[in-house]
Amino acid sequence: MSRVVVVGGGLAGTLAALRLLQAGHRVQLRESAAGLGGMIAPLGLADTLVDAGAEAYAVRGGVGRALCDELGLEVAGPAGAAHIWRPSGAYRMADGVVGIPATLADPALDALSRAGRATVAQEPGLGADVGVDASTVGALVRARLGEEALATLVEPVTRGVYATPADQLPLAGVAPGLLSALRERGSLLAAVAATRAAGPTVEQPVGGMFRLVAELERRVRGAGGDVRCGASVETLTRDASGAVLTTADGESLRADRVVVATPAAAATRLLAQVGADVEAPAVRRARFAVLAVDGSELAAEPVGSGVLVAERTPELRAQAMTHYSAKWPWARVGGREVLRLSYPADLEPTAEQAIADASLLSGVTISPRQVAAFASVEWTAMPARIDPAARDRLLAAARQAGVDLVGAWVDGNGIAPVILGVDRVLR
Ligand SMILES: Cc1cc2nc3c(=O)[nH]c(=O)nc-3n(C[C@H](O)[C@H](O)[C@H](O)COP(=O)(O)OP(=O)(O)OC[C@H]3O[C@@H](n4cnc5c(N)ncnc54)[C@H](O)[C@@H]3O)c2cc1C
Repeated sequence: MSRVVVVGGGLAGTLAALRLLQAGHRVQLRESAAGLGGMIAPLGLADTLVDAGAEAYAVRGGVGRALCDELGLEVAGPAGAAHIWRPSGAYRMADGVVGIPATLADPALDALSRAGRATVAQEPGLGADVGVDASTVGALVRARLGEEALATLVEPVTRGVYATPADQLPLAGVAPGLLSALRERGSLLAAVAATRAAGPTVEQPVGGMFRLVAELERRVRGAGGDVRCGASVETLTRDASGAVLTTADGESLRADRVVVATPAAAATRLLAQVGADVEAPAVRRARFAVLAVDGSELAAEPVGSGVLVAERTPELRAQAMTHYSAKWPWARVGGREVLRLSYPADLEPTAEQAIADASLLSGVTISPRQVAAFASVEWTAMPARIDPAARDRLLAAARQAGVDLVGAWVDGNGIAPVILGVDRVLR
C-alpha cells in the first residue's frame, strides 16, 4: 500500500483522492481553504445555498453525468429559455447551436425585422453550396441567414458565451459537424436541427453543483482518506525514502507519490522546489454579484433563465445575469428569487449597482427593501487556455520531478476536462 499526498482539494484533488483510495492507496488530502471544492463552492444566501462558482457541467462527452451517476446524485438540466438583452428590451435566444435557430418557428425570430425574417425564411432554398467554404461562425451565418440574423441572434452568443466575435470564432471548435450536415441536408436550419444536442447541453446535481464535491468528500472520508482543510502545502522536497511535504501550520507528510491539484501558481512553486522550473501560465479574474430578492414580479420569470447583454448603456455595468432560481428551481426557497450577475474583473459591484442592473435587465423594479441578501464574489485564478505543446512540456517536467499534475490549469477549465484529467493520471 503506497502513501499518496494529494495537494489541493478542488474537484481535481478530491476526485483524485477518491480514485487513489479505490485503488487501495493510503491517501492524505491537504487543502489550503476552509473547505473542499475550490471553484465549485456553495454560497449561503439568506436561507438558500447557491453556487458561487461553477454551476453546471457540459453534457457533451458524458463524463459529468457518469460521475454523478456513480455517486448516486440525481441530475437535471436548466429550466427556462435564455434571453438576449438590449436597451430596447429582452428577447429569446434561439434554441439551436451558437444562437443559430433550428426551425423557422423559433420564437427568437420575432426579434428580427420583417425583412430580416424574410431573409432567414429563404435559407432552406439557397442550395447546399452557399457558405460551405466558411471557416467561422460569422461567415457561415452571414452567407445563409443574412447580416441582421447574425447581429441579432448569433453575435451576442459568440461574444457573451465564447468571448469572441462571430467572424473570429472557428466553426470547427464550437459546431463540429455543422458544415457536413449542411452539405448533406442542403439547409443550415436543418443542419442545426440535426446536430444540436437532443436534451440540455448542461446539467447540475439537483440542489447545486456544490453537491458533487460534498458527496466526493463524504466518500473520500468514508473510504478512510485523511482530509485536512486550512492546511496549505508550502514545501515539497525529496530524500532517499520519498517525498517530504510540509504545511504552513507545521505538519510534515511523507509520501511515495505526490499528486498536485492546486491552481498554477501554487503548483509551479512546489514543482520548482523539486527541480522542475516551469512558468505559471496566465490566469484571469472574474467578478459576480448575487442577490436574494423577496416578493417581486421576478417570480413570473420575465427573462427566463437569464440574459446575455448584447448592447450596453452608460448606467449598466453587468455583463450578464442568470435568474438562478428560475434556471435551477430548487434554489427558490420560500418564494425568494436568486439572481447572479457577472461583472468586469476590475469592478467590485455594490449592492446598489447590482440592484439597479438587475432591475434594468429583468424589467422588474427591485427595491432595496426586497433584497434579503447580497454577496460580491471574486475568483482570482481562472485558468486561461493552455497551449498543447506547453502543456506536454509541463507534464513531462512534472513527471520527471516525480509529481502527477491534475486540474483545470493543465487539463482545461471546466468540470468535464478536469474529470478526464484525473482519469488520465489515475486510471
Ligand atoms: C465563477 C466560475 C464559474 C464556472 N462555471 C463553470 C461551469 O458552469 N461549468 C464548468 O464546467 N466549469 C465551470 N467553471 C470551471 C470549473 O469550476 C473549474 O475548472 C474546476 O472546478 C477546477 O477544479 P480544480 O480542482 O482543477 O481547481 P480548483 O477548484 O481551483 O481547486 C484547487 C484547490 O487547490 C487549493 N490550493 C491552492 N494552493 C494550495 C496549497 N498550497 N496547498 C493546498 N491546497 C491548495 C485551492 O484552495 C483549491 O481548493 C467555473 C469556474 C468559476 C470560478
